[in-house]
Amino acid sequence: MANKIFGIDLGTTYSCIAYIDENGKPVVLKNAEGDLTTPSVVHFESPEEIHVGEAAKDSAVLYPDQVVTAVKRHIGEPGYQLTINGVTYKPEDVSSYVLKKLVGDATESLREENKLEEGEEIKDVVITCPAYFGVTERDATAAAGKIAGLNVLSIINEPTAAAISYGVTKTDTEKTVLVYDLGGGTFDITMIRISPNEIRVICTGGDKNLGGKDWDARILMFLNEQFQEETGSGDNVLDDPETLQELTLQAERAKKLLSVKPKAPIPVNYNGEHARVVLTREKFDELTADLLQRTIDRTKDMFAEAEKKGYHQSDVSEILLVGGSSKMPQVMTRIKAEFGIDAKLYDPDEAVAKGAAIYAQHIQDYNIKIEEVAKKSGQTVEQVQQKIEDGKTSLEDEAKKYGISTTAPGEDEFGGIGAVQKIINVSSRSFGIIALNGDDQRRLFNMILKNADLPAEVSKEFYTLADNQKMVSLEVYECMVMEDEVDPEMGKAVGTAQLNLAPGTAKGTPIQITFRLNPEGLLEVKGEERKSGNSIEAKFETKDKMTDAELEEAQRRNSKSSVD
Ligand code: ADP
Ligand code: MG
Repeated sequence: MANKIFGIDLGTTYSCIAYIDENGKPVVLKNAEGDLTTPSVVHFESPEEIHVGEAAKDSAVLYPDQVVTAVKRHIGEPGYQLTINGVTYKPEDVSSYVLKKLVGDATESLREENKLEEGEEIKDVVITCPAYFGVTERDATAAAGKIAGLNVLSIINEPTAAAISYGVTKTDTEKTVLVYDLGGGTFDITMIRISPNEIRVICTGGDKNLGGKDWDARILMFLNEQFQEETGSGDNVLDDPETLQELTLQAERAKKLLSVKPKAPIPVNYNGEHARVVLTREKFDELTADLLQRTIDRTKDMFAEAEKKGYHQSDVSEILLVGGSSKMPQVMTRIKAEFGIDAKLYDPDEAVAKGAAIYAQHIQDYNIKIEEVAKKSGQTVEQVQQKIEDGKTSLEDEAKKYGISTTAPGEDEFGGIGAVQKIINVSSRSFGIIALNGDDQRRLFNMILKNADLPAEVSKEFYTLADNQKMVSLEVYECMVMEDEVDPEMGKAVGTAQLNLAPGTAKGTPIQITFRLNPEGLLEVKGEERKSGNSIEAKFETKDKMTDAELEEAQRRNSKSSVD
């Protein structure tokens, strides 16, 4: 029997875990509090006692030095770390505790329903990340999974996962879909092209600093104004940390209520004075209209970039709403007014986790089928894989040839992505190296441009600067600009690639440097000496990546701690 397999949406503000049940359906598992999503907030009470979720969120104001929120904003950021209770944590450590909470509670919930066998545990997972995540962020996300003791099968893009769970990837025709994801702290917009055998991310955009929290902040400002008006007090209630904490939670509650009700009452108590504020949906929409407009503006910016690749706004036939904040009715209304399309809204805060679970199942089924085909046909798994990659055959055809069923329980082909679709991503940014131009100025020469289809491979020729040079050390940069040569100021260093040259290499020897971004967006660097054709040993290290020793230490720490 194959292992159960899970999909995890590791969000900036909320996280969620799903699995494929015995009927082949994706199901989100509840946490210990009975909720389907868990705040990605971590309270380090001591190095061993860690609280994640609602309780941690409620403690934020009482223990500001021990509570970490929105750490995803810093994942993969070189040098970023926090010291709490004398222990130093990197963002991947903090995230590993969120994962531990999700997995721990999901295990409990499955055990209660007798759905986990004796000794069976949650191990194999697919974790999602935003489509704009670069190499270092994806590496760090995978590291968070490893630290939590998980086997990370793949890191996939959130919008791709969402499209899978919305079922739009099962199709007989080609279509273009827009995924509008408004979460707690980020807005992501993605254009995806879907055909019967391919899911292709065409273009991504958005605003990393725009989300539900900004809508909450507008409510807070309103509450303060109303309090002053009603009580005649000149006090700013938001200056007091405890009142701010209480009102922040109230504001979020009111906002959620307004998604289903026309009015929300919010009591404001401060310094012995009381105000009973009532916020209507109409007023709320008015207070936040400019924020909503920003999502439309970023969407149009993304369309402009898609245009450069030959895709048009008019190609879009479906719009999927993802992220908890897309439950605000203003979103659907505005999209209809702007683009004339009735957007789809279906469990937007669970869609990503469910899609990840479906994809995880897909990987598992695919691997099992390939193994079966290999076994029955007397080939190796790699041989079968190569033939499929070369387009000589498909897994379905091979399976049929050897009488192997391609249907998963309760679902159609391979767990329901549709046919065996290839998932094609685009590069979320441009990657290049620093070199001198003709005027001896340091310039960033982009090798792979933003929005290039993955896998992408680009080679360029460079020359050694001295006789007997032992190595070439390349500064690898990433940037958001889609041009061949740019000012290094526009990008950021992500690591170095070191090429070791053979002894006696003469000055001016041409060296071919190849950048390859693998299908998951991870960068590989290769070198070749052009005269001899000898390949050069090349190593690309992302900046500040955890060493194996650090990973092990973090794993030990994580496994020793109790997380609830
Ligand atoms: P993340 O940003 O971590 O991906 P989510 O997609 O779960 O997280 O979005 C979280 C945001 O969605 C929060 O700002 C939350 O207040 C908001 N939200 C959740 N449910 C609702 C709702 N019913 N109405 C309005 N906003 C909601
Ligand atoms: Mg999200």
